[in-house]
Amino acid sequence: MYDIIIIGGGPAGLTAAVYAARAEKSVLVLEKETAGGQITQSPSVENIPGFTQIAGTEFADRLVEQAMAQGAEIEFGEVISLTDHGSYKTVETDLGDSFEAKAVIIATGAKHRHLGLEREEEFIGNGISFCAVCDGAFYKGQKVVMVGGGNSALVEAVMLSDLAAELVILQDLPFLTGEKKVQDILLAKDNVKVITGVHVVKLLGEDTLTGAVIEKNGGITEEITFDGMFVAVGTEPQNEAFSGLIELDERGYAITEAGMKTKTPGIFMAGDCRVKKIRQVATAAADGAEAALSAIDYLEGSL
Ligand SMILES: Cc1cc2nc3c(=O)[nH]c(=O)nc-3n(C[C@H](O)[C@H](O)[C@H](O)COP(=O)(O)OP(=O)(O)OC[C@H]3O[C@@H](n4cnc5c(N)ncnc54)[C@H](O)[C@@H]3O)c2cc1C
Repeated sequence: MYDIIIIGGGPAGLTAAVYAARAEKSVLVLEKETAGGQITQSPSVENIPGFTQIAGTEFADRLVEQAMAQGAEIEFGEVISLTDHGSYKTVETDLGDSFEAKAVIIATGAKHRHLGLEREEEFIGNGISFCAVCDGAFYKGQKVVMVGGGNSALVEAVMLSDLAAELVILQDLPFLTGEKKVQDILLAKDNVKVITGVHVVKLLGEDTLTGAVIEKNGGITEEITFDGMFVAVGTEPQNEAFSGLIELDERGYAITEAGMKTKTPGIFMAGDCRVKKIRQVATAAADGAEAALSAIDYLEGSL
């Protein structure tokens, strides 16, 4: 039995692993996809303390290396169930593995929100992508659209604008909401066009996405054609599997008490998966540290 199991190997989970392992607790991190979490999708990050600039993948590698150097174990598999037995908890993964721990930290982060359009699932991987780092190169010299105007969308758009012949940013609000510095970079480029106040209402194409119908304010529609569509319209949490043991708000984010506690003793939350105002690497790491220290207090009977 482990002292602490951490579900999710993003910045929150891996920071928790460093703190818990340094306190000589046995720690297992379970990760379903890419250790490092969402930040691996960012080609360049400039606001992580201690780094003027670093690629998200390199930062992720350093997090993993740091956690393992302290003695944390990392296993792959999606946690599909968590059961509370009072003094210990059991987690099960989609690979059929089962692990036990005295305390659990849930750090499952968030995933890309979809547009909710007809045929969207069918076109994912066939013209729709959520990751410029992963798929941008497929559209070198072509025309692409980016749906979304927030920070994540604009960071991805900068990368796409270096690859694509033409990039159109479609934003539903009347203005872009991403960082001003990133907006300035994009707006200075000749191959970038921004259309605000529009919604994508229909996806077009046979086997592959080739265009979309967009609706402008006032209900006027227009058909646009392109080679690929990138979607960055926010994220949603991945807390469903734990909903019996933690409290969720109406959007599915976990409501935590002081010390990252949940309503179930011995289960803690950290990072983007919980209700909070700022979702960034720095705040995820802060949550991870706090959750680990609370879990240690819980194990030592002082919480
Ligand atoms: C394109 C992009 C650019 C960004 N740029 C910046 C930036 O410049 N600066 C900044 O500070 N932040 C940036 N962010 C935000 C930052 O990446 C997140 O705030 C941070 O990664 C949150 O960390 P987390 O550990 O809470 O969650 P995540 O990073 O989402 O990690 C959660 C991990 O849990 C795993 N997981 C989920 N469910 C399960 C399960 N059931 N079982 C096992 N594993 C599971 C996921 O696969 C994931 O690896 C960016 C995000 C994106 C998408």
